[in-house]
Amino acid sequence: MSGGRSVARVYANANDKFGRSWWDYDNLAVQWGTQDNFECLRKVGRGKYSEVFEGVMVAGASSPEKCIIKVLKPVKKKKIKREIKILQNLAGGPNVVALLDVVRDPQSKTPSIITEYVNNTDFKTLYPKFTDFDVRFYIFELLKALDFCHSRGIMHRDVKPHNVMIDHEKRKLRLIDWGLAEFYHPYTEYNVRVASRYFKGPELLVDFQEYDYSLDMWSLGCMFASMIFRKEPFFHGHSNSNQLEKIVRVLGTDDFHAYLEKYEIDLDPELDDVLSGRWQRRPWSRFVTTENQRYISNESIDFLDKLLRYDHQERLTAAEAQDHPYFEPVKAAAAKGEIPPGSTS
Ligand code: ATP
Ligand code: MG
Repeated sequence: MSGGRSVARVYANANDKFGRSWWDYDNLAVQWGTQDNFECLRKVGRGKYSEVFEGVMVAGASSPEKCIIKVLKPVKKKKIKREIKILQNLAGGPNVVALLDVVRDPQSKTPSIITEYVNNTDFKTLYPKFTDFDVRFYIFELLKALDFCHSRGIMHRDVKPHNVMIDHEKRKLRLIDWGLAEFYHPYTEYNVRVASRYFKGPELLVDFQEYDYSLDMWSLGCMFASMIFRKEPFFHGHSNSNQLEKIVRVLGTDDFHAYLEKYEIDLDPELDDVLSGRWQRRPWSRFVTTENQRYISNESIDFLDKLLRYDHQERLTAAEAQDHPYFEPVKAAAAKGEIPPGSTS
């Protein structure tokens, strides 16, 4: 179904620059650590691809250190190598969850990924408590992680609140779950079955496979919209085609057609319903209520508008986003040393 061609506006040749050993994850020889160094304490999460435990590192450390043990369900070896290679490549990057070890159960050979622990508060409890400044602050922190991974040739492909851990007391944010992340190579046709429904970009929903880092900027835009409008999730589709419809009802049909034409995308006949209606683009001001107005300013609306664009090439890049005036208060506070440490890794 993929039509015309498209290349990332930035970091298109990052992987060429870093060389084959950087991106050729299938040839990674994993150095498995020993599982005895870690002890599971309690289950903290359960994903499609894993069971996640809070644990402690018992050997080596002077005092037992908390960690997260992600026990992987049986999936393709190649996928496991990809997640490990990406975590290794991004180690030490700003606000990227730190990789501590990769271990294997001696008997079952079940692999686990050990990462740093974040004392996260569920976003459904936490986000409504945020001040306008908090939203600016954490989105800026998330942008640091995104610009870093993009600059290293990696798209996350599953940006959503569940994959963003926040320890609000320490004002520490970490981007986790690199299980769907992938290396970007220009003109590669990627699988569109990535990201969670509410955060899927139009490119995924119309089956345009030559997408790039800008997919993450759409997902970020959805997260941001839900935060400033206090509407969770912002685009609430109950199927993939309905997800596209929810988007079109907000961004309008005219720009949608322009998008399809620009990239010569032929819509799947199953999506004909999406095009049957004619929708005017809805101004963002329509979503403002008394409950969310504390997050609304010309800057927040302008920033949102520059993320939620059909055309992936039009969206702000993570670096451009950090330069948006919306983040001026965050930068001013940082310059005055008003933000507690822990905001970078
Ligand atoms: P999914 O299929 O839901 O995307 P997954 O199987 O790929 O998930 P993760 O997203 O890595 O697994 O982890 C699942 C959950 O475990 C997270 O949503 C979070 O609640 C918890 N979790 C994972 N890593 C951490 C961490 N470093 N600190 C605190 N909690 C974590
Ligand atoms: Mg996850």
